[in-house]
Amino acid sequence: MGTLFVVATPIGNLNDISSRALQTLREVDLIACEDTRHTIKLLNHFGIQKPMTSYHDFNEQQKAEELANKLAGAATIALVSDAGTPAIADPGYRIVRLCRERGLPVVVIPGPNAATAALAASGLASDEFMFLGFLPSKKNARREKLTVLANLTCTLVFYEAPHRIETVLEDMQDVLGDREVCVARELTKIHEEFLFGSVSEVRPRVKPIGEFVVVVSGATQAREAAPSTREEVLKRLGMTRNQLYELFFKKGTAL
Ligand code: SAM
Repeated sequence: MGTLFVVATPIGNLNDISSRALQTLREVDLIACEDTRHTIKLLNHFGIQKPMTSYHDFNEQQKAEELANKLAGAATIALVSDAGTPAIADPGYRIVRLCRERGLPVVVIPGPNAATAALAASGLASDEFMFLGFLPSKKNARREKLTVLANLTCTLVFYEAPHRIETVLEDMQDVLGDREVCVARELTKIHEEFLFGSVSEVRPRVKPIGEFVVVVSGATQAREAAPSTREEVLKRLGMTRNQLYELFFKKGTAL
């Protein structure tokens, strides 16, 4: 029986790859990667030549089955994503799950991850945090999601795209209140930057270029700023009462 190695790769600085990750990539029979054109650059940099196969969002289900069959036939496979830890806001969960269901061994080679790197360097409470990946791209859905999160007392960690960072911070200020945030940009890269302060202080300083992690303080630190009346909630959501009713009605939820 083969083994699936879940291998973390750098999120920018190639020196962040671990020696165990390199050894694994050198020894496996096959590397399953999100984008072979991306991973080949990493492999070339480290002088590794290995067969690769693509494993991405659009073929994950069928490919997981194929890879699980190879593992059952004793092949060893490394799973990597374009950057960071596979299965964390990246493909990977399905093949790992299939291995668990079929009793196939899974070994993790931990390493870079943008969320924990940003949190560790944020200066915000890190004893309890919630990782939320990307917020919805549609404004109403995003504000609705933020409203659901508004009373959580743990630190919140989000990934965000450069073309949405400004509007997302605006939504955060409106819905969550003017909390402390740390906006981490281009982690481990030449232009790494951390902006720390209240959302209103940070917003005008954000350059919408590169990759972002937004770390937001939990509700305990911002309790006073949380909306307390229905009118305030509606104002922060940017919705009328009817729109909110319609939203909940469509979902079959009573207000
Ligand atoms: N699996 C990856 C990980 O372990 O961090 C995350 C993959 S997710 C598809 C990509 C998102 O992660 C980016 O849009 C950005 O929000 C965040 N990210 C990845 N690399 C980053 C970096 N160097 N600096 C800041 N954020 C980064």
